[in-house]
Amino acid sequence: MSTELLFRDDAYVKTATARVVAVHERGVELDRTVFYPQGGGQAGDTGVFVRANGERIAIADTRKGDALDSVLHVPAPGAPRPDSGEALTLEIDWDRRYSLMRLHTALHVMSCVVVAPVTGGNIAPDRARLDFDIDMSLLDAGKIEREVNALIARGAPTQTEWITDEELDARPELVKTMSVQPPRGTGRVRLLRIPGIDLQPCGGTHVANIGEIGAIRVLKIRSEGRRNKRVEIALGSRT
Ligand SMILES: [Zn+2]
Repeated sequence: MSTELLFRDDAYVKTATARVVAVHERGVELDRTVFYPQGGGQAGDTGVFVRANGERIAIADTRKGDALDSVLHVPAPGAPRPDSGEALTLEIDWDRRYSLMRLHTALHVMSCVVVAPVTGGNIAPDRARLDFDIDMSLLDAGKIEREVNALIARGAPTQTEWITDEELDARPELVKTMSVQPPRGTGRVRLLRIPGIDLQPCGGTHVANIGEIGAIRVLKIRSEGRRNKRVEIALGSRT
């Protein structure tokens, strides 16, 4: 069954109350959630469910379920399972999620500095990467850092927009990421706009203003194959 995705309208919601609708082998489904399920290269959220009696159930990962917008919350090994119908308070590990949001948004900015088709990507709490179909000689770590950080310093807001599948089909130039097609199935696709910098389909969680990223540094650049030149970044400036 589908879950109301509270993070989709507001990525800053850290806690909510919810009711358990199903408990399976693979995880716990709720009527609503603040936990982002792994997708679009972004890691799934961790956190805790708090039961009415105060007992805490550690959530080690969050994954997509089979149905559209269904979310599976994966309890940590040995953690108790809640009961179907039980009311819970949800709390995500906010420091971890906020790092993911900052790094994720930084990748949007970087995708405008490195102008090449994106062939892969991943966002972990401590580092993120994009793979480009580009010649290695065109990737200069110092230049990428300077240009990304200069854009971040503009402090532009991020905006969410929705378009129909048909509108997206008519604007194929919006899809930069060849390996991850935008999520479809509801007839509409969510776009992230950073005015003057980036516009592309994305279902992930982003900071409200790119200034919140602070600064990034390039950890490494290496070839992972003919069409995968990998640029890996972390938060924080080089000192
Ligand atoms: Zn995004």
